Amino acid sequence: MIELLHPGQLARARATGALVGHILQSVRGRVAVGTNLLDIDRWTKAMIEEAGAESCYVDYAPSFGRGPFGHHICTSVNDAVLHGLPHDYTLADGDLLSLDLAVSLDGVVADSAISFVVGEAQPAESVALIDATEHALAAAIATAGPGTRIGDLSHAIGTVLEGAGYTVNTQFGGHGVGSTMHQDPHVPNNGRPGRGYTLRPGLLLALEPWVMADTAELVTDPDGWTLRSATGCRTAHSEHTIAITDDGAEVMTTPR
Ligand code: MG
Ligand code: MG
Repeated sequence: MIELLHPGQLARARATGALVGHILQSVRGRVAVGTNLLDIDRWTKAMIEEAGAESCYVDYAPSFGRGPFGHHICTSVNDAVLHGLPHDYTLADGDLLSLDLAVSLDGVVADSAISFVVGEAQPAESVALIDATEHALAAAIATAGPGTRIGDLSHAIGTVLEGAGYTVNTQFGGHGVGSTMHQDPHVPNNGRPGRGYTLRPGLLLALEPWVMADTAELVTDPDGWTLRSATGCRTAHSEHTIAITDDGAEVMTTPR
């Protein structure tokens, strides 16, 4: 089902998005060498509760996972790229951390992810991966608007990622958002322009390019959730929830 939001719901989506953006930036500002991933989960839980919002992750139990996720944020480190299950790990200088967060506030969900390097070391390969996903996300947002087709977004993302020298995995990608976290339409991170569903005002979409340095193959941890590069290489992930407006697209998940 594809859900189009009315103006009242879009106003609520803006509030949810601002909260998600705020939490991610707050966590980013607080993370340092020595931070444990379980600290990040605890901070996130406290901020969600303080805002009167609900986690989309705690009870999330899709067919591919191993029971409910049970935590409030995804923390993916280095070769982990998606669905990183918070666990007892202390961040070291130069670790590449990807945070992914979705919450529901007043019945509307927003979903966003950021990647950054922890500490003083800024390895060139990690910075390049992060830049590629951020540029791919920006290219897709610039492409989005009424009349744009899903394939146009996929093509915009894939062109940037491939242009940066990466091979794109299309197993997991962007998606519709609304009263629930994952909805149609699916937005693959590569594809042909001019194909697929035509965007219209009121549609909320999570766009989420992610990339791995030297492979397109994922492996799953024994925890049943965390997805890593098959080669152990570094990875990155950037995501915003956007709303299609009458004349373009509005990013909902920036802190306000
Ligand atoms: Mg997400
Ligand atoms: Mg998402």
